Amino acid sequence: MLEQLKKMFTGNEAELPVNTGSKPDISREKSAALYEKSKTYFPGGVNSPVRAFKSVYGTPLFIQKGDGCFIWDADGNQFIDFCASWGPLILGHNNTKIREKVVEVMQNGMSFGAPTALENELAELIIKNNRFVEKIRFTSSGTEAVMSAIRLARGYTQKDKIIKFEGCYHGHSDSLLVKAGSGLVTFGETSSAGVPKSFAEETIVIPLNDKNAIIQAFEQFKDQVAAVIIEGIPANNGLLMQDEEYVKFLSETCKANNALLIFDEVITGFRVGFEGAAAHYGITPDIVTYGKIIGGGLPVGMYGASAEIMGHVSPDGGVYQAGTLSGNPVAMAAGIATLTELLRAGFYKELNNKTQDFVASIQRFADARNYKFKVFTVGSIFWFAFTDSDIKTADDIDPTSMEKFKVMHRELLNRGIYLGPSGYEVGFVSAAHTKIELEKAKRAIFDSLDLVFSKK
Ligand SMILES: *Cc1c(COP(=O)(O)O)cnc(C)c1O
Repeated sequence: MLEQLKKMFTGNEAELPVNTGSKPDISREKSAALYEKSKTYFPGGVNSPVRAFKSVYGTPLFIQKGDGCFIWDADGNQFIDFCASWGPLILGHNNTKIREKVVEVMQNGMSFGAPTALENELAELIIKNNRFVEKIRFTSSGTEAVMSAIRLARGYTQKDKIIKFEGCYHGHSDSLLVKAGSGLVTFGETSSAGVPKSFAEETIVIPLNDKNAIIQAFEQFKDQVAAVIIEGIPANNGLLMQDEEYVKFLSETCKANNALLIFDEVITGFRVGFEGAAAHYGITPDIVTYGKIIGGGLPVGMYGASAEIMGHVSPDGGVYQAGTLSGNPVAMAAGIATLTELLRAGFYKELNNKTQDFVASIQRFADARNYKFKVFTVGSIFWFAFTDSDIKTADDIDPTSMEKFKVMHRELLNRGIYLGPSGYEVGFVSAAHTKIELEKAKRAIFDSLDLVFSKK
């Protein structure tokens, strides 16, 4: 192991020879056949749009199994995976502890629609180790968690409007499928057919990292704003790192206007640290939402707040919210096994250090070659951007740069590296990525960058 690692170690990235040879495309025969069938069953052949590979080359890969940091597709191609099921798999695929706990719990049945001790157990793991929530409610997805958090904010403040940011994703509920119109502070324009205009008009959309926009929005809609919702660290449309000072300002402005601050931490929760982005910035949101990692690969979401705010949720209060499979014991088991590992001393330090070494080496390589390429990163999240400027808002992203990502994506697949099939998506390093695999991945990334930039 050590010898292999020593031999591979990149050392001085600047001295590597430039790679000029594309690899042949991997075989996708079986995936392509499955895709032909799936297109007869599902719109676009998929059950979630980005999976259809519309922004990259080739047909979608149908995945057969995963283990550790690897996945295998239907044609038997092996990949080092940085998609991690879009974030939940912080411990990697098929983690033994999660699997064993899930199997153990499943022996006793899969759902009761009645309380179980497992819900208490997962809640205790969260509440005892998190400053930001006193009471919580489990849901079955992130979308549901956010939708419910917004209803709670509206019920609690008895106001209707919400402010959201261009470039933040909060799931697919009606009032959040909105995008900015033209102008600094605008009513949302629906970003999906089927969302009534009147719903979208309850959502005000403003740009990120812009204090004036916030001030103006609160002036324009004085005493009408129930909540401001922001992704703890926006990571669904590139990785848009916000200035700490700006996030603090946002928090203060909400307080001054009696509006709640909702931190949507479905992607950042338990990812940038056990207490997510709120702890990263050192601010206290009024309502927090989690998802993804909290279910360890099974469908779980959660929203939480102070006991006082959560006291407004049914049956204690008047804000209705329910779920047939909420708190499902099997999903709780996966969450318990996952969070128990995350609480191990040094877990995040190790994962984040490993990621930061990986990312720094890639950046040194790109800089040594004068490639217009930047890796944005926090914790174990990274985002590859074909730019030489700082990116903090959705508008900062050059859509034409996505053509370069497309080439990179294909070159990486052909070298056994799997990234999410869109240049707007971030990548994740998991605890299961060893130094050797990260070193291999780096080599593949270097080679694919050489090829991207050799094409003029
Ligand atoms: C993934 C995500 C959601 C939606 O969660 P689903 O489980 O896909 O419904 C909401 N908000 C953020 C920030 C997310 O990353």
